[in-house]
Amino acid sequence: MGYRAGLAGRLALAALAGAAVLAGAACSAGADGTPEVTVRMVTPAGPAPTPTLPPGVSPTPLVPPELVVSTLEVYQAGAVLVSVTGDVIGGQVEFLGRKYPLTKGSQSQYTFVPVDTEDPPGEHALLVDVRMPNGTRGTLQATVRVLPTEWTVDYLEFTPEQTAALLDPQVVAEEQALLKSIYVKVTPQKLWSGPWLIPAQGALTARFGEQRSVNGSAPSGHHGGTDIGAPEGTPVVATNSGVVVLARELRVRGNMVVIDHGGGLYSGYAHLSSIAVAEGDRVEAGQLIGAVGNTGLSTGAHLHWEMAAHGILLDALRFTDGTNGF
Ligand SMILES: [Zn+2]
Repeated sequence: MGYRAGLAGRLALAALAGAAVLAGAACSAGADGTPEVTVRMVTPAGPAPTPTLPPGVSPTPLVPPELVVSTLEVYQAGAVLVSVTGDVIGGQVEFLGRKYPLTKGSQSQYTFVPVDTEDPPGEHALLVDVRMPNGTRGTLQATVRVLPTEWTVDYLEFTPEQTAALLDPQVVAEEQALLKSIYVKVTPQKLWSGPWLIPAQGALTARFGEQRSVNGSAPSGHHGGTDIGAPEGTPVVATNSGVVVLARELRVRGNMVVIDHGGGLYSGYAHLSSIAVAEGDRVEAGQLIGAVGNTGLSTGAHLHWEMAAHGILLDALRFTDGTNGF
């Protein structure tokens, strides 16, 4: 499922050469009211290229780029899967003032575009700059609407001793920095395929983005994962295929596994009682990676499941409930 826009028909290589701004095409809104998507192709400035083919031989036409987005309406903490098909060798997506490189997939160049918890709702331009093998650059554009997410609130009562013991800012900050340094890396390779699996069986005990009110304070912060309550020892499996980039004990998240799915997308599994994989292991979707536990800063056996794209934490359940459009 997706929304497509592209240049009508095929543009021959020869037709793309020689002009600064060459072709434009727009697909207007369909009957269902999907916003307009535009394509603009630009060739590099400079002298006309020297022909390298013998007279009478036509160059192979390039397949023009086509933009496919998984959804035109995405919730805060959701993600849009952006793909470009055609003869495209690379490029980048810009959305909400942030830029993400495209990664080569099986049939397209793609990336997961994250929407942060505090990104403003409303319509925003999504711009995709693409490069073609002949040096041509193109810009494809769609308008994506960010929808507000209503965050749940957890009202807690802590004694001063508990507050001091639980929230050592230094420890929390160091661990955040370690994970962030992993989550911002982009492996230029697609390591996932097919649907995203819920990694453990159990009850949803805390949603992603949940805010905390401590001792009556205004709700603040956002829970960075999805909590699944389950008995200690419950199997935890990989939500999708990838490479294990972290498998060790942390202070706050306890025993933790992080899987790199390529293209800047990661999943994390925290508070494990045991770890069944090692850093560097290649894992398949559904493969056992550990067991539910109560390690680190945790008040009962549960799995804390994180998903991050380009360093931004996302609601993992939106990878499984269809609201991201994939
Ligand atoms: Zn959690």
